Amino acid sequence: MAKHWYPVIDYVSCISCGSCTDKCTHGVYDTEKAPSAHVIFPDGCVDQCHGCGNLCPSGSITYNGDATGWVPPNQQRV
Ligand code: SF4
Ligand code: SF4
Repeated sequence: MAKHWYPVIDYVSCISCGSCTDKCTHGVYDTEKAPSAHVIFPDGCVDQCHGCGNLCPSGSITYNGDATGWVPPNQQRV
């Protein structure tokens, strides 16, 4: 199991929609930088939560230490 679980943003595909920052109630994202996604408090992220990743319209969020087999629902396939 991962010691540390937090979101990792792929800034190539991120469209800065702000959904992840809006979704998270644990202070993981910097609300002052919204709608850009900036992780400022990774320790606040809840183990095994995929809340923001499930909302991301471009599949730009994955999780450090994720061994659950979860796949971003909207991930672009190239
Ligand atoms: S995975 Fe959950 S707790 Fe972690 S940043 Fe996303 S919404 Fe917040
Ligand atoms: S939800 Fe996805 S596309 Fe929107 S700001 Fe967050 S990482 Fe970027």
